[in-house]
Amino acid sequence: MRYVTGAKCVKCGREYEHLTPNTTVCACGGILDICYDYAALRRDVTPKSLAESRDFSMWRYRPFLPVEADSPAPPLRVGWSPLYRADRLAHALGLRTLYIKDDGQNPTASLKDRASALAVVKAREAGAEAIACSSTGNAASSLAGNAAAAGLRTYIFVPARAPKGKVAQLMIFGAAVVSVDGTYEDTFELSKAAIERWGWYNRNAAINPYLSEGKKTVALEIAEQLNWQMPDYVALSVGDGCTIAGVWKGFCDLHAAGFIEKLPRLIAVQAEGCCPLNRALQTGTPWAPMAENTLADSIAVGVPRNPDKALNAVRASQGLAVNVSDGEILAAMRLLGRTQGVFGEPAGVTGAAGVKKALELGLLSPDASVVSIVTGNGLKDVAHGIEAAGEPMRAAPSMEALLDAFAACGVSP
Ligand SMILES: *Cc1c(COP(=O)(O)O)cnc(C)c1O
Ligand SMILES: [Zn+2]
Repeated sequence: MRYVTGAKCVKCGREYEHLTPNTTVCACGGILDICYDYAALRRDVTPKSLAESRDFSMWRYRPFLPVEADSPAPPLRVGWSPLYRADRLAHALGLRTLYIKDDGQNPTASLKDRASALAVVKAREAGAEAIACSSTGNAASSLAGNAAAAGLRTYIFVPARAPKGKVAQLMIFGAAVVSVDGTYEDTFELSKAAIERWGWYNRNAAINPYLSEGKKTVALEIAEQLNWQMPDYVALSVGDGCTIAGVWKGFCDLHAAGFIEKLPRLIAVQAEGCCPLNRALQTGTPWAPMAENTLADSIAVGVPRNPDKALNAVRASQGLAVNVSDGEILAAMRLLGRTQGVFGEPAGVTGAAGVKKALELGLLSPDASVVSIVTGNGLKDVAHGIEAAGEPMRAAPSMEALLDAFAACGVSP
């Protein structure tokens, strides 16, 4: 915690000097932001010292993270995911410069690993033996995996609609899993009551101020991988809002510490059937709950847990709010796969679907440079992969049958 100076409430501005691993929200209920001594960071860490690091994980940014100096990094390798120059996808979209940050390559295959790795360190600092969360799926599977590797027990609450691939991950990682017959909102409330009752370490998004600090490492990586030259826009999908808030915090920290000169604008992408935060941004009214009506389960969040930070991030960046249909999400899964060989889950490619939509709507100039974050891997949700891409050709094991199958499907090799 060498560079941490305290925390500040994003709602009322109250400052806290003494943080513990169990620090949660402000007395007013507002969510806390961790603050750093940026002058000291600027003095001790440089692009050059980072370039010399042999730690190819999120922990290469340890000075920028709120963990004790002697806390060991957890065992799984999280972060330093590839940033691909996506010329073929850019060409298909009619965009000049596009990069894909593939965070589906994390150990449990989503960006959530960045937050879970940090949660595991804080749980150990707190002396906890068990850690709990509720989740639409990925926060849970990533917590279960990262905690298993570190020898911590996990209690996980998921809504009954969570895809089987994610629940399978939980079971394999040995979590105590409760599938709640209800919405994500119901699931969250039950986990909250259980955490209060049994005193487990709380990895619920938004409540725990350390998690978005883990998530911000994706922004630090994008900046370093682009040699500190910022793109015009960074696009990603939004559910609770913690990820986009974390991304913005990462860029702001780098800016404050003098690593980057320009802040990118954010493109917040939600599903048409569940877009409470984008609706607030588009209409300039306070956010209100919405039904959870989308196949992109990871962002089917009708009551976002981090609305203040998320709305502030998009507004402060002079960003865009773009909604996409489920059909556009499935089309983006195919397009990313075919042009770049990247397989994202529905919420994973929603950012890219939003880039396409923003171009079509004329909100985004074809000359802009954009980084689109793929937040989760498609193998977590095979059913929607098949829905997006269809079934294979069928043939008996003979050349004749193969020729018939090719002819029937219009394939001419
Ligand atoms: C959690 C998640 C998101 C959205 O993150 P929030 O913090 O809920 O806004 C997007 N994509 C994937 C794959 C996720 O797991
Ligand atoms: Zn407050």
